[in-house]
Amino acid sequence: DRAALEAFRESPTRTADHHEVLLCCNIGSDQDVKAVLESGGEGIGLFRTEFLFMDRSAPPGEAEQFEIYRRVVEAAGEREVIIRTLDIGGDKAVGYLGMEREENPFLGYRGIRYCLGRPDFFSVQLRALLRASAFGRLKIMLPLVTCADELRQTRAILSKLMADLEQEGVPFQRGVPLGIMIETPAAALIADILARESDFFSIGTNDLVQYTMAVDRGNGKVAYLYSPLNPSVLRSIRSVIRAGHEAGIPVGMCGESAADSRLIPLLLAFGLDEFSVGASSVLETRRAISRWTLTEARHLADEVMKLSSADGIEAYLSAAIEDHR
Ligand code: PEP
Ligand code: MG
Repeated sequence: DRAALEAFRESPTRTADHHEVLLCCNIGSDQDVKAVLESGGEGIGLFRTEFLFMDRSAPPGEAEQFEIYRRVVEAAGEREVIIRTLDIGGDKAVGYLGMEREENPFLGYRGIRYCLGRPDFFSVQLRALLRASAFGRLKIMLPLVTCADELRQTRAILSKLMADLEQEGVPFQRGVPLGIMIETPAAALIADILARESDFFSIGTNDLVQYTMAVDRGNGKVAYLYSPLNPSVLRSIRSVIRAGHEAGIPVGMCGESAADSRLIPLLLAFGLDEFSVGASSVLETRRAISRWTLTEARHLADEVMKLSSADGIEAYLSAAIEDHR
């Protein structure tokens, strides 16, 4: 089986009827790029920059961040690299960032809210990202977006930083794409509005499931509700992809679900453009994608979307996938 899987290392990522999609990887440091390239990853779909800020006593400065981002985009070469701005999740704490203890951290001062609330940190990171954009195919992504204002405020900051860099004669890519994570029900519900101002979407199912189902992703007592196979979550994913495509922007997924063999045919049917998974899941994901024709995937999705519960959907998908082998 290992040998059969190996055959997928060099091949393009496509369905059985040759519909190509992009298969990228999630990373947490510049050192992870090597594993991505070795695994056959076609780019970086999510660089979680929060790890650069953790386990230290002061934030990394512009020079340090720039070096890391530049190394990543250079190592990726022709491949695209999506770098997410600082996203200290409700489950993480970083002393020097001055985040107070909150009653409901997952609903609190996090993600893009924190970035915009601390322009001192945010501008340093954005400047480092802009400078690194001169060295490869860098895209900037914002976490935990819930409204268009967050995107507009970020664009305003970027314009100002670009003007500064231009004046200083520092190279950067003027058209560096700015995209957002779709990981809140608010963003999913206004995906059509956000798509007009965003250059790409990436669906973050880890949080989208949590917020859609109102289930703390770390609470075992309610873990039985935490599934991307809930009809609510699947409808949300389907409509986000549709909204992105109606506006002509690509839609990816960087949550765990992108590597879930049960979801893969559904994501293909919905038209997902890019899957971003851990480097160790690249071959399995590419093989899972290759098993379906788009027609088969669409038939399966049509049936699944008629079902009324996560359990029913799970049972239906498991049987269908077993049958399909
Ligand atoms: C997600 O929420 O799906 C995601 C990819 O972001 P994180 O897991 O870092 O919250
Ligand atoms: Mg998230």
